[in-house]
Amino acid sequence: MRMTMLKENLELVEKRIAEACARAGRAREDVTLIAVSKTKPASVLREAYDLGVRDFGENYVQELSDKMETLPKDIRWHMIGHLQRNKVRFIAGKTELIHAVDSYRLAEEINIQAKKRRTTVPILIEVNIAGEASKFGISAEDTILLAEEIAGLENVRIKGLMLIAPYVSDPEENRVHFQKMKQLSVDIADKNIDNVSMEILSMGMTGDYTVAIEEGATMVRVGTGIFGERNYNRRKA
Ligand SMILES: *Cc1c(COP(=O)(O)O)cnc(C)c1O
Repeated sequence: MRMTMLKENLELVEKRIAEACARAGRAREDVTLIAVSKTKPASVLREAYDLGVRDFGENYVQELSDKMETLPKDIRWHMIGHLQRNKVRFIAGKTELIHAVDSYRLAEEINIQAKKRRTTVPILIEVNIAGEASKFGISAEDTILLAEEIAGLENVRIKGLMLIAPYVSDPEENRVHFQKMKQLSVDIADKNIDNVSMEILSMGMTGDYTVAIEEGATMVRVGTGIFGERNYNRRKA
């Protein structure tokens, strides 16, 4: 990828984030941009790093581990993909945040691996707020119960909620889902569950991150908007 294009993309995303924050009366520092780099070679991540990016999002454990090894140590790695229990041991304690926890059994495995490494692992609960049959994530109704269960695990810390919104052509269609996510996070925060904070709301992707910010997202995950289209054939599994 040409460096100038990457720079321009980043500047445009940055500008749109700043504008969305201004519209919502929010501070720019309240929103973290995660550059979603799955399928992109380490050299491209390095270019983004040189342009100042420090938060990267990856979906596949093997790819994440490989990139972690070759890239600078001050990168904050976000595991944003669906995580299988048998892969947890490869990344537990190495990521800034695991975004997509949607079952007690997965949280339990993270807890076991975290304990082994004498650390605590910050996670988000993935909510399927739109009730899409094809999606991972816990239903909105069951989220509080799951949070209460996971809260009992000593080496796991719930930091908030995560949403993969429906794929839509008009981002306005997702506004209602972002609003519901915000409300759910407020409801859970009001319960004052020990070990559970709702400081993070991870929602919004290339097609809809400005709307997500207007509705309270504190982390947006932007891939295509920064790195261009993905070519899945080139992915090293
Ligand atoms: C791939 C991916 C993204 C980024 O998607 P874009 O539409 O390319 O911005 C964000 N979040 C998750 C969970 C993803 O898998």
